[in-house]
Amino acid sequence: MEAAELQDRADAAVARLPFSRRVELLSGRDMWRLRAFPDAGIPGLMVADGPHGIRKQAGPAEALGLFESVPATCFPPAVTLASTWDPELAEEVGRAVGAEARALGVGVVLGPGLNLKRHPCCGRTFEYFSEDPLLSGRMAAGVVRGIQSAGVGACVKHFAVNNQETRRMTLDAVVDERTLRELYLRGFEIAVTEARPWAVMCAYNRVDGEYCSDSRRLLTRILREEWGFDGLVMSDWGATNDRVAALDAGMDLEMPSSAGANDGPVGDAVGCGRLDGGAVDRSAVRVAALAMRAAAAVPDPGAGERVDARLAEGHHALARRVAAEGTVLLANDGVLPLAPGVSVAVIGAFAVEPRFQGTGSSQVAPVRLDTALDALRAHSGEGRALGAVRYAAGYDASSGGTSDALVAEAVHAARGADVALVFAGLPAPYESEGFDRTHLCLPDGHTRLIEAVCGANPATVVVLSNGGPVEMEWAARPAAIIEAYLGGQAGGSAIADVLLGVAEPGGRLAETFPRRLKDLPADENFPGAGDRVEYREALNVGYRYFASPAAEREALFPFGHGLSYTTFEFGQPRTTGDTPTVFDADRDGERLPVRVPVTNTGPRAGSAVVQLYARMLEPVAARPAMELRGFAKLRLGPGERGEAVVDLDRRAFAHFDADLDRWCVEPGEYEVLAGASSADIRGRLRVRVASSDPVRPTRPLPARVADTAAFEELCGRPVGAPRPVRPFSRTTAIDDLGASVLGRVVRWGLLRAASRQAEGSLAERDETAGLMMERVMREMPLRNVVTMSQGRLSWRALDALIDALNGRWLAAARRLAGGRARERC
Ligand code: BGC
Repeated sequence: MEAAELQDRADAAVARLPFSRRVELLSGRDMWRLRAFPDAGIPGLMVADGPHGIRKQAGPAEALGLFESVPATCFPPAVTLASTWDPELAEEVGRAVGAEARALGVGVVLGPGLNLKRHPCCGRTFEYFSEDPLLSGRMAAGVVRGIQSAGVGACVKHFAVNNQETRRMTLDAVVDERTLRELYLRGFEIAVTEARPWAVMCAYNRVDGEYCSDSRRLLTRILREEWGFDGLVMSDWGATNDRVAALDAGMDLEMPSSAGANDGPVGDAVGCGRLDGGAVDRSAVRVAALAMRAAAAVPDPGAGERVDARLAEGHHALARRVAAEGTVLLANDGVLPLAPGVSVAVIGAFAVEPRFQGTGSSQVAPVRLDTALDALRAHSGEGRALGAVRYAAGYDASSGGTSDALVAEAVHAARGADVALVFAGLPAPYESEGFDRTHLCLPDGHTRLIEAVCGANPATVVVLSNGGPVEMEWAARPAAIIEAYLGGQAGGSAIADVLLGVAEPGGRLAETFPRRLKDLPADENFPGAGDRVEYREALNVGYRYFASPAAEREALFPFGHGLSYTTFEFGQPRTTGDTPTVFDADRDGERLPVRVPVTNTGPRAGSAVVQLYARMLEPVAARPAMELRGFAKLRLGPGERGEAVVDLDRRAFAHFDADLDRWCVEPGEYEVLAGASSADIRGRLRVRVASSDPVRPTRPLPARVADTAAFEELCGRPVGAPRPVRPFSRTTAIDDLGASVLGRVVRWGLLRAASRQAEGSLAERDETAGLMMERVMREMPLRNVVTMSQGRLSWRALDALIDALNGRWLAAARRLAGGRARERC
């Protein structure tokens, strides 16, 4: 349906609804469904997580919490997908996810997630793409295009600056404007402008003091007016702070349903003029339009309980290919690919009980699950690729703990084989939605096992399964290290493919692996103090920092790194244009095609990822040492020559001037660097950039981390002053209810009620899901007790309780006696 026709139909449908129904449309029907008003021609709609497969809850849609879901293909999560550096492959995955959504009656997929990897301890690192916004944005755009090509919508999330789990529902992320634009919003900008998602999900947290759900600046001024977004904004689940402010800001749909709790306040606000009724209509039209759009492909929302077997089979094969393409060969002394006929000792419980996805809202019930041990055994025997395959568990899969007996058994197996394969990494409770990691270490049991097996057999290969960087003090010991990340349901077969050389390890790191957590500037302010985190490192994130002169130590494995089974030679980058190359930033739509010749100089087919970074030679405005501005993946046969062609545009040379509130290109000499990683630059091209933009020195970037005065200068306002202690309010987290008798009783009561709500959910059977649910409940602000109580608690009762918590007993009693108070008029 054409956009104009859709708009007309949605306008007409909403015009048929009385005001009270329009308000009802602005909150869901339950956890996953939107309301339908068939008489007015507004169909229903079902949404589901996302992003690396469909999680359609099998139980009642009214239930809160994490429940069983119907089987769907579990693709590798974003961390693995990003390591493919292949937006077209991401699009293919998106198409498959879209097809399964359609088969399951899901009209909008809640993903992809593209928050930036500011700090590797973020619990959802596995669900996000990269530390670089260009790579994040381009991969996310691929996924969005793919999902939407199936006729269902994508919902990019979590907008914005939701880069940690700790206190995510009340946290204030304080970040200077330039860093916000260049790092934390840029990926969203790319995904929105390139792929036009149908929906955007606003984040739980605050940015600079303002809840994302209430932020007109984020949701209207930047998203719609600057980027031209024309879809719907929905809240993250329970992220609506003040429904009236949110509508005014452009946050259209509150999810999940608040069961009418917010309808009264919205009606009152329009009645007394605090909110323009036009805001209700505008958002209602967007909700209607989204439902109509999805109905064309999914006419019966929620119908469909299984994915067709043939579809699932094809998707499994795709998942396997993606997992291999995202596997990063970190180190290899030549032991890989395995020589024909070698015997192997498969060591580590992950070879049998794979870690293949993370815990939380993105957790998919896989259609099937391959294990590395089975896949390797399928190749063993007379005249086959492998000789004998022995197995030793080495540790407990869920805790990571080991014992003398398990280590001895592993060492024995390693001694008796040509090659030892150690499957190690992070057990599920180490990383999950809902909480952050506190260190980057592997479990002691895994480290001990790796050391022991390396001692027993020099031909040891370590295969890691984890959702984000880990420290590896042992890195110099194994003959090879494979970062397989989380491989999805076909990850086990994909690892076997890579080990045997049936598939290339196609991955390159989309994030830096530091030697130690302390090497990261962001670590000095992570996860912040109380409800506040200050991004004092500014642009010093990932390789932007490690490439700078201030970096004290090299990364363990740099951004962009990854070996191949073959070798590539890069020629010098060149353009077809003038010599010296000139780029006119003032010309609309100007493009600079940069060509990098690449030759596969080895004996095998393989893929090279050509990464183009830009830097300015003598900038007046402070700049990071280098920034990724384009990339291309080439697949070349043995001896084959190819050429990577990357178009650079104006933004490749621009920085955001916070005072002028716009992107500026400083005229002068730039260098375009062609690299096989951020630390392996193979060629350079000088580019003279002409621009009439104003040249001004910007506020200085901190070398590593800004002190209070410098941070205030960077932010353009005072930020460091201690804040007054706030009285209890609707945004007080349950855990912060204080030590008074009332506070303790209320906290106990609420947590008990919450755990009853979660009865029968995964939290009861799965340790990690349990940890996550507990944390989420404790950090939940009081306002959510109303909006998620399905009508059991009213605003009046909550506000009376808050009065009482603040010692204002009389006010509490008055409020309780006074009937429904009109809100803030
Ligand atoms: C997560 C979202 C998810 C939603 C619905 C939230 O807690 O942050 O990513 O889409 O739940 O499950």
